Amino acid sequence: MMTTVGILGGGQLARMLALSGAPLGLRFLVMDTEADACAGQCAPLLVGDYRDESALAEFASRVDVATFDFENVPAESAEWLAARVPVFPNPRALALAQDRLVEKNLFRSLAIPVGDYAAVATRDELETEVARIGGACILKTRRMGYDGKGQFRIRSVADVEAAWQALGSQAATVGLIVEAFIPFQRELSVVAVRGRDGEFRSWPLTENWHVDGVLSASLAPAIVDDALAEQAFAHARRLADALDYVGVFALELFCRDGQWLANEMAPRVHNSGHWTIEGSETSQFENHIRAVLGLPLGDTRMLGHACMLNWIGEVPDRTAVLSQPTGHWHDYGKLPRSGRKVGHATLRAETTTELATQVGQVGDLLARQSQVSPIVQALR
Ligand code: AMP
Repeated sequence: MMTTVGILGGGQLARMLALSGAPLGLRFLVMDTEADACAGQCAPLLVGDYRDESALAEFASRVDVATFDFENVPAESAEWLAARVPVFPNPRALALAQDRLVEKNLFRSLAIPVGDYAAVATRDELETEVARIGGACILKTRRMGYDGKGQFRIRSVADVEAAWQALGSQAATVGLIVEAFIPFQRELSVVAVRGRDGEFRSWPLTENWHVDGVLSASLAPAIVDDALAEQAFAHARRLADALDYVGVFALELFCRDGQWLANEMAPRVHNSGHWTIEGSETSQFENHIRAVLGLPLGDTRMLGHACMLNWIGEVPDRTAVLSQPTGHWHDYGKLPRSGRKVGHATLRAETTTELATQVGQVGDLLARQSQVSPIVQALR
C-alpha cells in the first residue's frame, strides 16, 4: 500500500523532503497557506490555514504520518493533528522549540551552556535587564522569529528606547527576551537525526556564516578539535533524548574562546544541512523521512568536503556553478524577492585545496567574493 507523508508548510524544505522521499516510493501531501508555495511544484498542495480545523481534518484524512517544514505551525494545530495521525517530531518538542525563552531554560536544565538572558514584559524591565547583563544585548521576540527577524541590537542602555519602539508592541503577543550579545569567533551547527527507536546519528559539524541574520554560507566538515566536537554532539543528543525527538533537527551553537554557547534549536531539517544532499552518504531530508516512518537510518558520513552557498533574493547565473566539476544547483522555483531564500549551490571535493579552488572560482565568476571569502579562508 502507498504511504503518504503529510508536510505542514510548503517551502523549500518540504520541496526537498518530497524530492528525497520519491525514490522510497512515497507520496506526499503538502499543506500551506499560500497557493504558490514552492513545494507545490513537486507534490500535491492543500491550501489552508493551520488553524482551520476543516482544512486540518482533510489533511489528516489524506496522510499516514505528518511532519513539518515550518516550525511556527501553531502548537495547538499540531496537537489536534496528533490526536488523529502520527506526528513527528512530537508537538511538545515543536512547542518548546517555538519559544526562545522556554528553549533556553531547557538548555540550561540539560547543562547545555547558554549566554545570559531574561524575559522582558515592559520597557522598565528591559532597561533593568540590559543594565544587569551589561554591555551589548539583543532584544528578540520569543516566538515567530526566524532568520534574524524580530530582533533589535542594543549597544548600551541608551538604545533601550529605540529597541522598545521597534519591538515593545509585541511584548503582549509573542513575548520578548533579551540576550547578552555573544562576541563569538565562530558559528557552527549540529545537524542530527533521532529515530523512533531512539537511535541517534549526527552529521559532521558544519560551520556557518550569516549576513544580516540570514545564513549565507556553510562548510562541512567544520575544522574543530575532536573533544570540542564530541561535546557538541553530546549536547545535541541530550536535547533530542529529553524531547523524545523523532526526525532531523539542528542545534545552532556559538563558539567563543573554545567553548560552546547554544543559540537555538530548529525542530526540522535545516539550511545548514543542505550540503548533505550531495556531501553525505544519506541526506538530512532522506534521513528525516526515514526517521518519521520508522525506517532504518542511513549513514551520515561525509563524502569529502562540502560548501553550501545560499541564494537570497534572486538566483545568480547557474552556469558558474554547473561548470565546476562537483557543482550542484538548487533553484527552489520561487519568485525573486528581497531577503527571500530562493536557492542554493553545493560544491563538493575530495580535498580542502580542491574545494577552495572551486569555491573561489564561483566567487569570481559571480562577483561574490565577499560571500565566498570566509569559506576560502577557513579552508586554507
Ligand atoms: P537567530 O534568529 O537567533 O538564529 O539569530 C540569527 C543570527 O543573529 C545568529 O545566527 C547570529 O549570527 C546572530 N545572533 C543571534 N543571537 C545572538 C547573540 N546573542 N549574540 C550574538 N549574535 C547573535
